[in-house]
Order: sequence, then structure tokens, then C-alpha cells
Amino acid sequence: MNKDAPCPCQSGQRYRECCQRFWASQQQPATAEQLMRSRYTAFVLEKASYLFETHHPEYRQADELKALKKSFKDTQWLGLEIVQIQAGQTEDNVGMVEFKAHYRHARQTYVLHERSTFVKVAGRWCYTQGEQLSQS
Ligand SMILES: [Zn+2]
Repeated sequence: MNKDAPCPCQSGQRYRECCQRFWASQQQPATAEQLMRSRYTAFVLEKASYLFETHHPEYRQADELKALKKSFKDTQWLGLEIVQIQAGQTEDNVGMVEFKAHYRHARQTYVLHERSTFVKVAGRWCYTQGEQLSQS
């Protein structure tokens, strides 16, 4: 991925200045939104270990890495829209991000509309789980 290209999370920033900083823990997302965006980009770029590490341990599924790798094969991510953010700022410990993520699966396109909850664990934002909202 070209580091000067627009970031896949569609923040409007360059990849280098956006999600790329968070791989290998050079820097950590300061807000729930940044973690949400970086997890989306990690799906696009197939960074299973980042997705695993930023998923709260109590919410991981058995065989999560395997499931992630399977999802990379089956799903092509097409775009992200952030709909709404509640809390999740640098001084918060909990945050919610509602988003729509567009994807293609088995030659059909879909929208995942989800409200995800994030919590800080030892100062780092983690994804816990998401509530699926109506398809639109
Ligand atoms: Zn980004």
C-alpha cells in the first residue's frame, strides 16, 4: 500500500498520517473513532494480528485469528462512513461509534450498519462488541 495514498478508512488523510501509524504499536489510537477506523483499515489490508490485539480479550471468539483470515478471503471492503460518535474521546474510558461499512461478498454488495462499543484497557482503546442496526 502506497503510504502517500488516501487512507482506506476515508478520513481524508494520507495513509502514512492516519491508520498506518498504529501497526506495530508505534503509536496508539487516541480516540475510539481512530481505533474504529484503524480496525476497518486492518480489515482492508488483512492485518489479522492487529485486529486480534485490539479486540478485548473477553470478547474474542475461539479461533478468532482463523475466522479473521477466512473473512479476508470471503469479504472485500468497499468503504466506511462514520454515522455518529458518542464519548470515546482521549479523556473517556468508553465510547460508541456507529458506522456503515460497505462490502462485497459472493458477488453481492451489502452494508454493515453497526454500533460498536469500545473501552480502554490499561490505557489502550479496545473493541468489545457491536450491535447490528437495520440494513439500509
Ligand atoms: Zn485511516
